[in-house]
Amino acid sequence: VVTRLGAVAAVLLASLVSGATAAAPDPVEEIREEALHATRALELVRSLTMEVGPRSAGSDGDRRAVAWGVERLAASGFDRVWTEPVTVPHWVRGQASAAIVAPFPQSLVVTALGGSAGTPEAGLEAEVVRFETVDDLEAAPADAVRGKIVFLDGRMERRRDGSGYAETVPNRGRGPAVGSEKGALAVVIRSVGTGTHRFPHTGGTRFAEGVRRIPAAALAIPDADILAHQLEMGKPVRLRLRLTSRFLADAESANVLAEIQGSERPGEIVLLACHLDSWDLGTGAIDDAAGCATVVEAARIAGRHRPRRTIRVLLAANEEHGLSGARAYAAAHEEEIAGHVLAFEADFGAGAVWAYGSAVNPAAKGFLAASQAALAPLGIEYAGNEARGGADLIPLRQASVPLADLAQDGTYYFDYHHTADDTFDKVDPEALAQNVAAHAVLAWIAAHTDDELRPAPPREDG
Ligand SMILES: [Zn+2]
Repeated sequence: VVTRLGAVAAVLLASLVSGATAAAPDPVEEIREEALHATRALELVRSLTMEVGPRSAGSDGDRRAVAWGVERLAASGFDRVWTEPVTVPHWVRGQASAAIVAPFPQSLVVTALGGSAGTPEAGLEAEVVRFETVDDLEAAPADAVRGKIVFLDGRMERRRDGSGYAETVPNRGRGPAVGSEKGALAVVIRSVGTGTHRFPHTGGTRFAEGVRRIPAAALAIPDADILAHQLEMGKPVRLRLRLTSRFLADAESANVLAEIQGSERPGEIVLLACHLDSWDLGTGAIDDAAGCATVVEAARIAGRHRPRRTIRVLLAANEEHGLSGARAYAAAHEEEIAGHVLAFEADFGAGAVWAYGSAVNPAAKGFLAASQAALAPLGIEYAGNEARGGADLIPLRQASVPLADLAQDGTYYFDYHHTADDTFDKVDPEALAQNVAAHAVLAWIAAHTDDELRPAPPREDG
């Protein structure tokens, strides 16, 4: 009895000293410290990459990743863990080989782009025609392209914000389809990536309905240099290419979800997203096991401090090959979209977060001040109220859900992105913990604020 009275007295005294009335202590600092020093995120990345490994849409690894996600979330203290079915395309890479046949024969390191057709069994051989960009290819007369192998030779620039990717990736996304429409036999691109190693960078390419699917592949960067050099010498260059890529029947995958229910406003949702699938060449450590580990741990740690709103995580199916999970989520939760008060995604590697952007109701001054103040000690600067959200949030952006960006340092991300070298050892534990801390404090503040984060500011692009 004495002990209990003593404890009550101590609590009363503490509240008198702090001048608090009934308010709970602000747990932001506690959340940040727990994330920095006691997160299990690295163990999650290790487990997903080493025990599941590659998990491209429709593959056996994809199914095992879904089971892994359910098991890990169930063990992380969420109130509710569930899956929602997603139908995904099932493309298989097969084998790839390429060689310059003339003027100076040499084998090249190559991989198929996601969605590529296969070549004939024996491969195909043709003269190469080079363009810098898909726009240059688009402007070329068809008779300069017909019957040839198009080489798109654009170089990606290394930048912290990763903006070089957006500038160069149209060569991959649209190049093969434009080549097809002009009668090219195949399209090979200089890998959209940085670094000087000999790993080619894969990634999805799109053929609209009615456009003939042709073989499409990426050369490793030093191999693109070889091809470019031989072309510069002015003699016709002939390339042989063999791909055994093909589509199988669509497959069943799933979005994996979990949430901690809000104590006061459970119908209002703060959504943290990542994607569970990966390309098949590496083990998908930085893309996007690190992102999934970040959001799972951020939600778990924030959720221990009685959030007033619901904190939900979405491990999306098939981001890489067409955003199937993102679309399925938006469709399945259409009724609930108006209850989403903030959404953000971790899908830019494992570099430390350096900038924070919001896209929330500009009148949410308390939220904006509190979130900036909570992120500043992590070395994160504010980048304004024009956030765009990650790829898996595109359908939510179109539905005017408020968004945030926690921009990760992308200086080295594109050295490994979509290559065989995207493996666990590339994840820096300190940067990963900083990511967890940033995502956790932002989630908790959004789940706790008195401000209304809706409506999002109007967006020029809708
Ligand atoms: Zn990704």
